[in-house]
Amino acid sequence: MPLDGSEPYLKIQNLWKAFGKFLALKDVSLDIYEGELICFLGPSGCGKTTLLRAIAGLDLQTKGSVHQGGKDVSNLPPSERDFGIVFQSYALFPNLTIEKNVAFGLENTGRSKPEIKARVSELLTMVGLVDQSKKYPAQLSGGQQQRIALARAIATNPGLLLLDEPLSALDAKVRVYLRHEIKELQRQLGVTTVMVTHDQEEALAMADRIVVMKDGVIEQVGTPTEIYSTPKTLFVADFIGEMNQIPALAGPSGAVSFGSATMQSLGHDFAEGHPIIAAIRPEDVIPHGDETHVLGSDDVIETEENALEVVVGEMEFLGSFWRCRLHHERFGNSELIADFSINAVRRLSLEQGGKMTVELPKNRLMAFERPEAAE
Ligand code: ATP
Repeated sequence: MPLDGSEPYLKIQNLWKAFGKFLALKDVSLDIYEGELICFLGPSGCGKTTLLRAIAGLDLQTKGSVHQGGKDVSNLPPSERDFGIVFQSYALFPNLTIEKNVAFGLENTGRSKPEIKARVSELLTMVGLVDQSKKYPAQLSGGQQQRIALARAIATNPGLLLLDEPLSALDAKVRVYLRHEIKELQRQLGVTTVMVTHDQEEALAMADRIVVMKDGVIEQVGTPTEIYSTPKTLFVADFIGEMNQIPALAGPSGAVSFGSATMQSLGHDFAEGHPIIAAIRPEDVIPHGDETHVLGSDDVIETEENALEVVVGEMEFLGSFWRCRLHHERFGNSELIADFSINAVRRLSLEQGGKMTVELPKNRLMAFERPEAAE
């Protein structure tokens, strides 16, 4: 998001979308700036695709407006809007060769045949498939077909690239490879891009900003690190990454209270005694006195008096770290999941059944409304 005060390239204002009585989008407002790669992230049915389709004009909103490049496009048909789109299902023409598929959108744009030929060759080079130009879509892998769909979508240099779950039909390895390619291409072209995904890892890896959605509303908008480290709601905290959630009560002055023990947290606005969920990420649970533990380099570890004696339960070796399940009487039936480095486990000789002290850093311990209490 630019700090220079420039206008958003895409401005979505108070958008509503009803399908009969069902509200798929409820008063969604969002600013997207030129050159950004934005991911709409959320569980199935939260309205991501509906929002993308409204931006494209493929579905018209029930209420609200969409401005693109300063122009009100709210009621324009897709053909009069400026975007390229890639769907999950590639949507290539099976009876046309790769080069003809890519050339498709370039015809009727006033370009001469040689110009079209040169542009197709440039686009196929960009996506690394120039040697496949005479083949038909069925002769290519899923990943290759999606690269062709991408080449086709950017052929006319649109101001906006819309990607609707472009990677979800592909297998895991191809997906990871292609997300790098898409990001690289997006950066090179500088094209404002909106991508729908339900894959949190994909959103964290690719997005400049993530828009987390739930039940037709935006829960939070932020950079991947903001969304991950300072989720605004329990839903966002839970949807992205692993998160310990321990029932607790709000303590005084932003503290959280587990029975008799009170710990300092990042802070909250709940009245003392209010039922809450205390939350902390597994990698933020630190073995007491562990200098080898690396948090963010610019991060001060504030442990204060948040030390806790626990019994080590099941330990799982996950390759680059150990996932340990820690038990404490104050947590009732909840267990605290902690990810410890291999070095820490070795140095502390951690083993199942052993006791240890962990710290829950103040600036990593969060407090959220407890769902039962909200009802
Ligand atoms: P998914 O990842 O499953 O595609 P999504 O977040 O993209 O989920 P949408 O496709 O935007 O969700 O759908 C949002 C809600 O609107 C869903 O409950 C869906 O059933 C409903 N919906 C979408 N399109 C229509 C339609 N044409 N008619 C009726 N209901 C629809």
